Amino acid sequence: MAKTEEMYQCQGPQCGYIYNPDKGCKKKGVAKGVKFEDIPEDFKCPSCGVGKKFFKCLAEQNQ
Ligand SMILES: [Zn+2]
Repeated sequence: MAKTEEMYQCQGPQCGYIYNPDKGCKKKGVAKGVKFEDIPEDFKCPSCGVGKKFFKCLAEQNQ
């Protein structure tokens, strides 16, 4: 089970997609177990299409 520090949530308007390294992102060709930091820079949210810089660490958000 991934920790909140390893999960990243999309900040796109009306989105809320969470990248979980346990699941990866099949839709974008990211394998299971890949850390968010290790995803290619051109990764886009599978739900709303924004880039990596619009993702925020889940643990930081809850502070
Ligand atoms: Zn999104």
